[in-house]
Amino acid sequence: MSNMQINRTVPIPGSDFVWNEFKRSLPMSTYLVAFLISNFTTHSTVIPQITRVWSRRSILRNTSYAAYIAPKALKFYENYFGVRYPLNKLDLVTLPSYPVPGMENFGLIITKEDSLATKNKGSQKEWVATVTAHEIAHQWAGDLVTPQSWSQSWLSEGFASYFAAKSLDKVEPQLEATNHMMVDHVRIVMIGDEELHLGQTLEIKHFDPLVQDTKNIHIYYKGAAVLRMLNSVLGEDLFAKGIKNYFRKYRFKCVTERDFYDIFTTGNFSFVKDDLPTSINNIMKGWTTQESYPLLTVNRLDNGTISIRQDIFTEKKNESRNSALNDVRVSSTWWIPISYYTSKDSNFSTSPKAWYPPTHEPLLLNENVLPGSWIVLNSQQSCYLRVNYDNDLWDAISKQLILDHTKIHLLNRAQLFMDAFHLFEKGHIDIDKALGLMRYLGKERNYIPFYTAMRSFSQIEVKMRGNSHYDLLKSFLSSIILPMTEGKFANTYTERKRSQIALSWACLIQIKNATIIAKKLFRKWEEENDFSIFSELAKKSLLCSAVESGSEEEWGVVFRRAFDTETPNEVTSILREALSCSDNKTRIESLLNFIVEGSHTLSYNDAMDMYNYLVRSKRWNELTWNHLNEQFNNLMMRYDFIPIPFVVTPRDLEKFLTILKKFDPCEKDLFQSYVEENIKFAAEGGRTISQVTKWLVKMAPFEAPK
Ligand SMILES: [Zn+2]
Repeated sequence: MSNMQINRTVPIPGSDFVWNEFKRSLPMSTYLVAFLISNFTTHSTVIPQITRVWSRRSILRNTSYAAYIAPKALKFYENYFGVRYPLNKLDLVTLPSYPVPGMENFGLIITKEDSLATKNKGSQKEWVATVTAHEIAHQWAGDLVTPQSWSQSWLSEGFASYFAAKSLDKVEPQLEATNHMMVDHVRIVMIGDEELHLGQTLEIKHFDPLVQDTKNIHIYYKGAAVLRMLNSVLGEDLFAKGIKNYFRKYRFKCVTERDFYDIFTTGNFSFVKDDLPTSINNIMKGWTTQESYPLLTVNRLDNGTISIRQDIFTEKKNESRNSALNDVRVSSTWWIPISYYTSKDSNFSTSPKAWYPPTHEPLLLNENVLPGSWIVLNSQQSCYLRVNYDNDLWDAISKQLILDHTKIHLLNRAQLFMDAFHLFEKGHIDIDKALGLMRYLGKERNYIPFYTAMRSFSQIEVKMRGNSHYDLLKSFLSSIILPMTEGKFANTYTERKRSQIALSWACLIQIKNATIIAKKLFRKWEEENDFSIFSELAKKSLLCSAVESGSEEEWGVVFRRAFDTETPNEVTSILREALSCSDNKTRIESLLNFIVEGSHTLSYNDAMDMYNYLVRSKRWNELTWNHLNEQFNNLMMRYDFIPIPFVVTPRDLEKFLTILKKFDPCEKDLFQSYVEENIKFAAEGGRTISQVTKWLVKMAPFEAPK
């Protein structure tokens, strides 16, 4: 197989070999040349298809989902890009091992098996759809129209990521691909982006397409987010027209970022200028050439006017350090399209109502927001930024969520959680704002906001374990989770996913129905040894729950499989964590002894993981630290160094420092920076615990929202 079809096959006289001659290719970049020799098979169809999926015979069945998505995505792109797929065939081949999830060679896409084959379960299905749609989008974005320089690879990867989500919204809407992209991938990229020392910008200097490390992943999703922002500013019609012009004008050519922007300002599009405060190139440059992203701080003034200030997002405690270093980047500013809605008018339009020029001067919105009323900025998360509000606005938003959360768009509900928890973590606000938002969650039927809220909250829950106020936290969680475990709403795909998360939290706080389900699944797993019976999202907590209150028998089954070398790696870690859930002290003590003395081949890292699970468990923090202290010499002998768990709370720090005392005084300097880091983590943990406790005590008792 190669990029093009076979033209003719000629036998080589005197041998079993043949020459395959392929048709001459269309103009294309050299990095897209591919050929492949295999004994793979494909699905048989009556009608000849442009797209065909190839794999090893044994897993062909599992590629039918990709084979279903591929022609639909292709059709979507032909329509949206306004250019027919230029080749006669598109093969998607999946290999047992491959260095990247997929490679978009013109006409011959090559992927790794777990990116194209799925048993149709959970998150794997979303991944397969995403990779399939992404690589097919590249046939236009990247292959047909190629960035002139690797430094502008976002024109290829950002486009493929954004249009993959857009196509899946159309051909497989139940996956909510764009929503997922915004709350998963884009958020992860933002966290990397705000680390100024990484120096991440959309335009990058050294790009290696085979190195998909954290340094490059931002060109995929910051690229997609920035493109989505342009889409929001221009509106769907204009944007789609511009995209068509772009692909028609530059097919079989190379482009720069400038070529792309100019599409929207020349010819038929010159009228766009009238609506914009400056050229598209000027607006976009800030987002592609500057690091990080803006934080908008919103204040309601006494006369009801709204004042917004833009600053580069940085960690609060680093702010003074950054400006002391005279880092020019901390004064970065952007052209920001401002979209918003208020308590008076929940219109979720993303077209900008105002433009914030690149300055630190506050922008005033001519709105009359009454005391107790609210405003939500960044409609539908259309911009790549975070928003902080003044205290009264945060409170008004929380109240609105309880009253009627549908007045705030689901992507904004998700953003509120992600921003509030992140702003707390980085020292901008107190945790009560984030926790206050959560109170309505029992009524949340949509997966996206619920999932983002609980994902952020899980960091908090871990820190609270073993704390004397943990029961209060449990009762707060029950008020959210109980209404969801009654199984009334689990009809659609995303509602089922929401129920799975609810179920895993229900297991964690030991709601009775959930523990019964967990036990049933556990029996089934034991009999069939098929780990996939545990739903993707609930694996950990279901097993944990089964072990927690389980008998010696359950403990024995999990223990054996957790340390059996035949068990796959990704399963052992879940099983080992589940062991730490047991409420039986004798069993935990035997586990601790096993780590030190047992006949096993655990590595230093395995032992450290095990101790981390135990220290973070609900019950065994103290027991585990004491064990580490007592077994110091034996552990040093067995593992060459003591496998010390991470410090998360001030209580951990105390134990950690006690253990360090056992080292020779002259070795202590070696640990200096390690100790300092742990002191920082403990202080952060302490701040979380005290603020959460204060809020819980103040707000108790908790009732499920009506
Ligand atoms: Zn790609």
